[in-house]
Amino acid sequence: MTDLPMPTIRRDVLTPDMLAASSCSTGLVAAPWTIDQQGPAYGPGASESDQIPVNAPVQGSIPEEYRKASDEELHERIASAKATLGDRVVVLGHFYQRDEIVQHADFLGDSFQLARAALTKQDAEYIVFCGVHFMAETADILSKPEQAVVLPNLAAGCSMADMADVAGVEDCWEQLGSVLGDLSTPDETGKMPVMPITYMNSSAALKAFVGRHGGVVCTSSNAEVVLEKAFEKAHRVLFFPDQHLGRNTGRAMGIPLEKMPMWKPNQPLGGYGNTADSLRDSKVILWHGFCSVHERFTVEQVEAARAAFPNVRVIAHPECPMEVIDAADEAGSTDYIQRAVKSAEPGTVFAIGTEITMVNRLAQQHPEHTIFCLDPVVCPCSTMYRIHPAYLAWVLEELVAGRVVNQISVPEDQARDAKLALDRMLEAAPRK
Ligand code: SF4
Repeated sequence: MTDLPMPTIRRDVLTPDMLAASSCSTGLVAAPWTIDQQGPAYGPGASESDQIPVNAPVQGSIPEEYRKASDEELHERIASAKATLGDRVVVLGHFYQRDEIVQHADFLGDSFQLARAALTKQDAEYIVFCGVHFMAETADILSKPEQAVVLPNLAAGCSMADMADVAGVEDCWEQLGSVLGDLSTPDETGKMPVMPITYMNSSAALKAFVGRHGGVVCTSSNAEVVLEKAFEKAHRVLFFPDQHLGRNTGRAMGIPLEKMPMWKPNQPLGGYGNTADSLRDSKVILWHGFCSVHERFTVEQVEAARAAFPNVRVIAHPECPMEVIDAADEAGSTDYIQRAVKSAEPGTVFAIGTEITMVNRLAQQHPEHTIFCLDPVVCPCSTMYRIHPAYLAWVLEELVAGRVVNQISVPEDQARDAKLALDRMLEAAPRK
C-alpha cells in the first residue's frame, strides 16, 4: 500500500517562499518577464502535455523601471494610476489571480461573472482584464466598440483553450456531416442532428464558429442548463474543448458514458474506435481537451483528505476528472465553491479541488473554517500567474499617458458571430 499524500493547510496566499519551497516548478519564483523573450510559452508549472501553438501571442519587453520596482512601489503606482483614471477604467480580476492583482480589481469573479460585470460598466473607456486571453476577447466582444480591452500580459493564454482550434473543429463538423447528414437542417422531428457547444475557455474564432452554427457558449456555472436547452433543439451536442466538464455535466444529467464518445482532432471519425453507428448513437461528443491544473487532482488525494479529516467536505471543480468528481461530496464552479464556503457552519473542514490561489485566499478569508487544496503540491495556473503587478502598473500608466497598449481586438465579423453564442449563454442563467 502506498502512503497517501497528506493534506497541507495553508492560510497564506501564494508567496515566493512558498513557491520556492514546495511548488511544481521552481521557475515560478522567477519574474514572468524572464520568459517573455523565449517565444510562445505557457510558463513554469505548465504540464508537459500542454503544447503551445507556434502563433500564440508573445509579450514584448516592459520598461526596466517596472521590472525593477519593489512590490510596494508597484502597489502605489497601480493605485495612483487607477485613481487618476477614475471611472474611465474598470479592472476585472479572475478568482485565480494573485492577491497583489486582486486587491486592485473592481470586480472579482469567474469568467461568467466577469463577462456580466463588464456589461455593467458601459461608460468605462478601458477594461483592463486580469485573467487570460479568451476572457479579454470575450470582454471585447461584449463591450461597446469605443471601449478598449487590455490584457496586461499578452502571454497569459490558456492551454485548454488552445486544445481546440478552428481547423480541427471544422474538420470534425465536416466528418460529422458525412455521418449524420445535413447539419444545417432539422430532421422530421424538428431537431437538429447536432449542436456545437463551446466552453467559455475557447478562442473568439471558435465562439464565432458556434454562433454561426446555432450553438451556444457555456461556463462551468451554467453547463447543465445549457445542455438541457440544447437537447430541446438537437439530438446531440459536440462539446469542446474540455472533455471533463462535458462528461461530468452529461453524467449529472443521467447520460451514460457509452453515449459520450471522445473526439481526437484530425483523426478519421475522431479516433478512439468511433464508428458511424457509435456517433449516430451518441448524445455528447467530447473533444479531447482538458485543463492541466484540474487534471492534477486525484482520487488518492480525496482519500488522503478523508483519512486526515473524517468529516471533511470535498468539493471538486467540474474540470476535474470524473473519478475525482465521483469521490468528492460535491462538484461545482468557482462561484459554487465560494458560496458553499460562505454559507457553511463555522468549523467546517473543506478539501477543495480547484486552482490553489483561490483556495488559499478562501482559507485566509474564512479562518472560521479549515480549508485546504486537495493537491499538496503548490501549482498555480501558470498563465494566470503571468499577470504580475509590474504589467498592471505598466498598462495603467500607459493609459494615463493616453496610450493603449496590449489591446485585445476581435475582428468585427468574428465578434458578430461569437456574440450570438455569448448572448445565448447570458440567457442561460445558472441555477442557484
Ligand atoms: S486554470 Fe486551466 S482552464 Fe483555467 S486558465 Fe488556467 S489552464 Fe486555462
